[in-house]
Amino acid sequence: MQVAVVTGPGAVELRDEPRPRAGPDDVLVEVSTCGLCTMERRLFDGTKPIYPVAPGHEAAGRVVEAGDAVASLPGAPQVGDLVTMDLLTRCGTCHMCRRGRSALCKRPQGGKLSDGTISMGAGLAEVVRVAAAQTYRVGEIPVEHAAMGEPLACVVHSVRLGGFRAGDRVAVIGAGYMGRLHLALCRAWGASCVGMVDVSAERRSEAVDAGADWVAGPHDLSGWLGHHDVVFVTAGTPGAVELALDLCDDAGAVVLYGAFPKDVMASVGADRIHHHELSIIGVFSQEPEDWRTAAGLLSSGALAADLDRLVTARYRLDEVADAMTLAVSQPVYRVMVG
Ligand SMILES: [Zn+2]
Ligand SMILES: [Zn+2]
Repeated sequence: MQVAVVTGPGAVELRDEPRPRAGPDDVLVEVSTCGLCTMERRLFDGTKPIYPVAPGHEAAGRVVEAGDAVASLPGAPQVGDLVTMDLLTRCGTCHMCRRGRSALCKRPQGGKLSDGTISMGAGLAEVVRVAAAQTYRVGEIPVEHAAMGEPLACVVHSVRLGGFRAGDRVAVIGAGYMGRLHLALCRAWGASCVGMVDVSAERRSEAVDAGADWVAGPHDLSGWLGHHDVVFVTAGTPGAVELALDLCDDAGAVVLYGAFPKDVMASVGADRIHHHELSIIGVFSQEPEDWRTAAGLLSSGALAADLDRLVTARYRLDEVADAMTLAVSQPVYRVMVG
């Protein structure tokens, strides 16, 4: 079977790899499509130079083989089911897994292909082997939506840890793909309003089309300061934490979702946090209960119209170089391969 391997900046090729075999607790999934996330873009544009590497962690497809221990087990995906896949290592044994915080599993992530190539998901492939426990049925929905299971699970995690409740006033800093998933989810879950902040006029107008109640540039927020219960930061830029705190009302929560450059510091008045009961919450990745919720949302179709708007382009696996080139050369939401 074929798998895409990034061999250097701007270089990706398809390699032949022995077809994996399902162990007793695994399923084999024929990949229908796989989204290109920030990680794939960074590997391809050279900002994360780890080579050779088989990326692709936003994959979905159909189960073609189920291991002995899970075939016909109630609740386990069966042959023919469309599934979205959690490709993280969750050892279940380390301190974080035992605390239920398996997004932060201490076991090294990733694996290796047969020739020693580093695997970071290896979902840009014809077939993937995955633990049945880490696959989630999504019913009969467009495969592009199914491949949004991983990012949607991350956003469910973010909204859950942020303490969001129906009726809350929400602001989202950054109107890219992840910001738009926050918009879609908070609206679906009963936010009284969701505003979006972005430097790009084009992204602001696309956010309005997608149902944002208000949009503004980061320097044009005077009317919106002090009016929000939860503020999600999906664009980690200098000043974003301070801006998010300024958008909060009393008892507001700032959720740091997007990665920041390592050297970015934030200046926060400690007494302000105390007297106004503000929270700053870091969120990273997702946990099994977030996957379960995300898969339920996908199969319900509740977000279908929102997800449709976020598919920028679709390519075949043998066009993966064109897909990667598009994803790094202009602003995109999701480019799908497979
Ligand atoms: Zn991702
Ligand atoms: Zn662990």
